Amino acid sequence: MHSCNYKCAFCGMKVTMSIKQNIVDGAHIKPFAKFSDNRIDNGISLCKNHHWAFDKGLFTIYDNYKIIVSNNFQEESPNSKPMK
Ligand SMILES: [Zn+2]
Repeated sequence: MHSCNYKCAFCGMKVTMSIKQNIVDGAHIKPFAKFSDNRIDNGISLCKNHHWAFDKGLFTIYDNYKIIVSNNFQEESPNSKPMK
């Protein structure tokens, strides 16, 4: 998360608190349960919404960090940047 400056890699959201808490989670690009890869280049910072969407397969991240968004979901984002 430090290497991403505590910003969501998808939407850029950054929220930090003086008590060293922030809004992003560290997520594994390749699932840790399957690949046991805990290296920093297999990690990415995502906000709570985009961490959930990533875990549900709404988007994926290729090895070159290119983000590919699924068409298999509906979305309404009147006050924020939509995912697709
Ligand atoms: Zn986000």
